[in-house]
Amino acid sequence: MSTTAAPRPEFRDREGAVEPDLVAAEAAAAAFLKALGMDHDSEHLRATPGRMARAWAEMLTPRPFNLTTFPNEEGYDELVLARGIPFRSICEHHLLPFTGHACVGYLPGERVLGLSKLARVVEHFACRPQTQERLTKQTADWLQAQLGAKAVGVVLKAEHSCMTLRGALATGSSTVTSTLLGTLRTDPSSRQEFLALAGF
Ligand SMILES: [Zn+2]
Repeated sequence: MSTTAAPRPEFRDREGAVEPDLVAAEAAAAAFLKALGMDHDSEHLRATPGRMARAWAEMLTPRPFNLTTFPNEEGYDELVLARGIPFRSICEHHLLPFTGHACVGYLPGERVLGLSKLARVVEHFACRPQTQERLTKQTADWLQAQLGAKAVGVVLKAEHSCMTLRGALATGSSTVTSTLLGTLRTDPSSRQEFLALAGF
């Protein structure tokens, strides 16, 4: 995303994104299952490579939407906060899902955003190979750039299946990340108010 461009309603960071090639992905999934010693020609697994390809393509492709912003005509100057936003993403190290909830808030500047769109911003950045840290920061940076917000706060709490179902087998563990920008970062009382409302 260009840092010098004027705020635009649509996402600009997926220009040039390549559409999934489901035929190639299915062939690769079949080869993958075979390499792991599974008989993908058996009756039970015959349709699995195709399902795998479609499932991964779905999880890695954000739904298109137009992120319209509105002028803050009423001069609303308190926190706008959406919490309990469910999200799922894919860890870029193992390509395994991580799932959790987000709390996204901002202190309006020139522009405001429809509330449901806060969830869509998280979803947009979640539909790619990710780290939780980057997902948190991308969501916050995008909101600040697009809304000219005085402050933005994003907190994510997630369970990583690469940590709970394999490896450390840390079942039930969760990871919390946060990005605070603007006055939420610099003013201790605003920061405290946000974190209390976020409920993490
Ligand atoms: Zn991982």
